[in-house]
Amino acid sequence: QIFMPLNFLGFVYREIRGSLTNIENLFTLLAKKPAIVDRADAKELNVTKGQISFENVGFSYHEDRRILKNVNFVVKAGTKVAVVGESGAGKSTLVKLLFRFYDPTEGCIKIDGQDIALHTQDSVRRHIGIVPQDTVLFNDTLYENIRYGRPDASELEIEEAIKLAHLDTFVTRLPDKGNTQVGERGLKLSGGEKQRVAIARTILKRPPIMVFDEATSSLDSQSEQAILSALREIAKGHTSFMIAHRLSTIVDADMIIVMDQGQIAEQGSHNELLKLDGLYTKLWQAQQKNSDND
Ligand code: ATP
Repeated sequence: QIFMPLNFLGFVYREIRGSLTNIENLFTLLAKKPAIVDRADAKELNVTKGQISFENVGFSYHEDRRILKNVNFVVKAGTKVAVVGESGAGKSTLVKLLFRFYDPTEGCIKIDGQDIALHTQDSVRRHIGIVPQDTVLFNDTLYENIRYGRPDASELEIEEAIKLAHLDTFVTRLPDKGNTQVGERGLKLSGGEKQRVAIARTILKRPPIMVFDEATSSLDSQSEQAILSALREIAKGHTSFMIAHRLSTIVDADMIIVMDQGQIAEQGSHNELLKLDGLYTKLWQAQQKNSDND
């Protein structure tokens, strides 16, 4: 008589513990997002092509320190742009503004000609997929963690996304395949594996604009190649915006923006920038020297 209720209590306890950890994750996420309030007359953003333009963008986190100054560039729909520069140059800040975690202090950011500050945050974020350096995994199965990209996705679509994200070999090695529990209380995934989960989520979401924050921690070269080839496949036909730390990964970008102390120092293709013999060339040569020494 006592076994059933105790068993049930154990189940309830585990459920609550699981939800609490998910709520903690949610709070960590929310804590990173300062409140930007939509205007009362904010409209839905309508994205047809996915062209991005930054027009005289200036930004300060705090009044006394300007982080971005006079940033101007256009990313044509369907092209791949990479942002490079030393640590603290302002690369991640550009992405935070594009995702409307903050609004510019000066100038504006347009997607398909519409100023995003005048549109709802929700509608802006719906059209952008982000593959961050550190992906948050919820305490759930691997499948459910991927389904998070689009809750109504079918199992077949999830399987397809797993293949495109080059996660299939990894999944076949798991004890319960895609039904294995991952996250804080389950299997811990490596940085590269977590990034591939984020890529699979983005594949399900299929947003017109994709942002990829390349991991700084050195992945082994096999993982790096798998991630890069997954990205190339999913980025086809989409506008992609990549924060790159290793220049060797972005030599094929349509445009490279070189940031220096919150300003654009140079922009162009890899070969155009090398001809300028400026900051990009210095960064390139420094990285070539490091890889020779490895
Ligand atoms: P990294 O390559 O190291 O990631 P980054 O080029 O992406 O650097 P950002 O993260 O954009 O640089 O930071 C640009 C500047 O803004 C830095 O000086 C940083 O200290 C400052 N900064 C970033 N986030 C905040 C914040 N939330 N509040 C105040 N200052 C911030």
